[in-house]
Amino acid sequence: MPQSDTRNRRVVLAARPHGMPTSRDFRLEEADVPAPGEGQVLLRTLYLSLDPYMRPMMNDVPPAYAASSVRVGEPMVGGTVDRVVSSRHPRFQVGDLVLGNSGWQDYALSDGQDLVPLGEMKQPSLALGVLGMPAFTAHVGLLDIGEPKPGETVVVAAATGAVGAVVGQIARLKGARVVGIAGGTDKCRYAVEELGFDVCLDRREPRLAERLAAACPRGIDVYFENVGGEVFEAVVPLLNHWARVPLCGTISSYNGDTSPGPNRLPQVLAVLQQKRIRMQGLIILDHYGDRYDAFRRDMDAWVADGRVKLREDRVDGLENAPAALIRMLEGGNFGKLVVRVSDV
Ligand code: NDP
Repeated sequence: MPQSDTRNRRVVLAARPHGMPTSRDFRLEEADVPAPGEGQVLLRTLYLSLDPYMRPMMNDVPPAYAASSVRVGEPMVGGTVDRVVSSRHPRFQVGDLVLGNSGWQDYALSDGQDLVPLGEMKQPSLALGVLGMPAFTAHVGLLDIGEPKPGETVVVAAATGAVGAVVGQIARLKGARVVGIAGGTDKCRYAVEELGFDVCLDRREPRLAERLAAACPRGIDVYFENVGGEVFEAVVPLLNHWARVPLCGTISSYNGDTSPGPNRLPQVLAVLQQKRIRMQGLIILDHYGDRYDAFRRDMDAWVADGRVKLREDRVDGLENAPAALIRMLEGGNFGKLVVRVSDV
């Protein structure tokens, strides 16, 4: 029997990071493969999604949307595509492909409540990207909160990432003019040439605020907030009356390394109030009940006919997940970051 059938490799949180995580904050260890009890299935992880929220989940105090953070010594959390390899659950058969939450490990048990059957998929990792949580976030945030109208200007940063790339492409489909912001010339070229953005600005080049003002001569009607920090500062003065700001994430502050700087909150609040701007937070977990079917109807069609695409940044091997997550937090990922854990 191959070693992977008896031993469960897992990446656990070894220490809580201060600032940017390092490889020492993770530990690869082995345990026995657990046996499913009555009403449980044993899952083999095929693909693991790496997502920015994993960084706040490494802190002692959990983010407000989570009941608890990852405990030191426990496997890192994460969405996965899994194969059922043993079942004592009436609804799941051996061989079923499911969307699960097995985290950073080869095998996990589930009572089935958090599993979504996937049927057979030619490319199962799409269920973690363009047909999964990040694209769903883009769909709900842009359409329900952003409400872009033809001719309006939509700005989104992390523009070639999992959420941002989909936001920009849906905004184009709705007739908006789309200005992306991304880290590096390759990403910016890709956003314009492959994803159809009207303009894309490199956030690593100087004078972002000036360049953004030049790229948005009629101001900004929708700012889809993925990053916060300097980009947000450049956006605020350009927001139009009645602009909408879906507040999806602020990755620039996830390592907790924001410098205090001058307190501009009073000015920001004044702009929001005087220009009647609507800024609304979004946690995608709230929307699976009411909005998921509409997302899949739209996205299945758009992906099938090529109107929406998302590049995959695929890493091989569970042991490489820590370095890949760190790379993402440094802006090094180019597209949806997934780890191929097994081919079973
Ligand atoms: P991405 O695939 O976009 O990867 C993260 C990207 O963020 C990096 O590639 C980099 O892009 C950018 N980035 C990293 N550090 C900084 C920084 N200091 N300043 C500006 N940009 C930075 O990730 P996702 O698409 O998965 O997530 C995007 C955002 O959406 C995150 O804030 C995430 O937390 C949020 N999110 C929120 C959800 C919700 O329910 N509210 C659900 C899913 C995601 P570049 O170098 O090109 O700028």
